[in-house]
Amino acid sequence: MKRVTLTDGTAVPALGQGTWMMGEGMMAEGQADRRAEIAAIQAGIDHGMTLIDTAEMYGGGRSEALVGEAIADRRDGLFLVSKVLPSNASRRGVVEACERSLRHLRVDVLDLYLLHWRGGVPLAETVEGFEALRRAGKIRRWGVSNFDVEDLEELAEAADIRDCAANQVLYNPEHRGIEFDLIPWQRRHGMPVMAYSPIGQGGRLLRHPALLEVAGRHGATPAQAALAWALRHDDVVAIPKTGHAERAAENAAAAGLTLSPEDLAAIDRAFPPPRRKQPLAMI
Ligand code: NDP
Repeated sequence: MKRVTLTDGTAVPALGQGTWMMGEGMMAEGQADRRAEIAAIQAGIDHGMTLIDTAEMYGGGRSEALVGEAIADRRDGLFLVSKVLPSNASRRGVVEACERSLRHLRVDVLDLYLLHWRGGVPLAETVEGFEALRRAGKIRRWGVSNFDVEDLEELAEAADIRDCAANQVLYNPEHRGIEFDLIPWQRRHGMPVMAYSPIGQGGRLLRHPALLEVAGRHGATPAQAALAWALRHDDVVAIPKTGHAERAAENAAAAGLTLSPEDLAAIDRAFPPPRRKQPLAMI
């Protein structure tokens, strides 16, 4: 699996696994889904997608608990990411939220802990909480999510920006505004992008003629074409979510697909690159 280097020099797989909407089946009929989801996460790990992204928000902790179950006997070698809600991002709230997430995941330490999006708490205070967690050995590093350039500039005034390991943002051919200014800004600071919803949440992007054309040329699927498109950058990690083991294998195989200049031009024609600043899109 191709790897991407974080701000602190740690290498992580370029493809990881998202887990939003997973672990939500609580009733008896949800048990089959739950088993399938656990099998999907385990298959993803087996295929090299050892970075797993979750959040306290997802299912109110149920996604973290599902991940905990899936990785119970295979924590070693994984890179676990979770996120704190802005409403819990005070100095003390961050520490309490992280401890809850560790309990749900049944692990001692998170590899990366992100502020899910900006809220009302001053950034300096959230960073103090993150640094306290790092000193206590409960997180290995921290980062942010849904931060636009001006947010990162403000963060750079409140903290040493080299301590911010990554910024997780929406990125796929339908939402590529970050190519104008955010990716270049992060590149100047050695900070990778974690691309969320990289296959457009499995919606119309995967039926778009341009994606079908590119995929067809490679005997690949549209999801693989979308993932290979995100991974054309050396400093982008993509985190597709699936609750199906066979799709996890399919998504992982996208790391071996390189798009040609002709492929990239076809995608540019269908989804023109940004020519001016666009506000950061979010889901
Ligand atoms: P994705 O772009 O990853 O799409 C997921 C959807 O695509 C699911 O419905 C899945 O269905 C389907 N799918 C997965 N693989 C395939 C495939 N090979 N072929 C066809 N369909 C497929 O969307 P997400 O919004 O889930 O984003 C990924 C992750 O990013 C999230 O799970 C979460 O971890 C993170 N995220 C972070 C946000 C933030 O604010 N920081 C916001 C949004 C997401 P099925 O499961 O049935 O296979």
